[in-house]
Amino acid sequence: MATRLPMHGEKTVVDHITVGLGKIATALRSQAWEGGTARRLTPTQGHILVLLAERAAKAVRLNDVAGELCLTAATVSDAVITLVEKKLVKKERSAEDRRALVLTLTAAGRREASQITGWTEVVQAGVKGLTPAEQTVFLRGLTKVMHSLQEQGVISVARMCAGCAYFQPYVHADAARPHHCGFVNKPLGEGQLRLDCPDFIPGSEADQPRRWQEFVRGGEGH
Ligand code: SF4
Repeated sequence: MATRLPMHGEKTVVDHITVGLGKIATALRSQAWEGGTARRLTPTQGHILVLLAERAAKAVRLNDVAGELCLTAATVSDAVITLVEKKLVKKERSAEDRRALVLTLTAAGRREASQITGWTEVVQAGVKGLTPAEQTVFLRGLTKVMHSLQEQGVISVARMCAGCAYFQPYVHADAARPHHCGFVNKPLGEGQLRLDCPDFIPGSEADQPRRWQEFVRGGEGH
């Protein structure tokens, strides 16, 4: 009897999305590598510059950089040595805690970071092709996937609205802007949910599960 070949239909939508996310990650890695080669930076060094640029003028602890990028402190430390030698990053003792090392970009580092952020343009071009409704659904889906990765301990705490002490899900009757950000004291639409907000403050352990459930349940009813 002939062996039956696997059919496309045997894969679930979960399988297809997982493959798609893997391809996007590969595209980003290859862009990061090409951009880094042109500037003689490794992807890790490039990611550190971008992360510091996103924190604007705020100094970031070396250990926090490691946590955000899911890297060991030793790996980040090695990359930072090179960035300091290239005069792109300044490393100094924290004013608040002399035991901690904090990092900031130099003026040359800021210029370099603005070039590097172009690495993500290939993905941005694809996302811009989605309709506004598709973008909103995609953003909500990403929020949920990132929450799961966080719960599984694969990524550090993401600075996203759904985990923020300022976030109040579904407190407004306006379906276009049902959430509220207590930091800016303004309603937020689904398409305005942040995945990496500089003003994020982690919600308390007691409040967080309730806030997350309200966010998930509210979305199911809309
Ligand atoms: S402070 Fe930032 S993360 Fe927190 S609710 Fe407001 S926009 Fe979202």
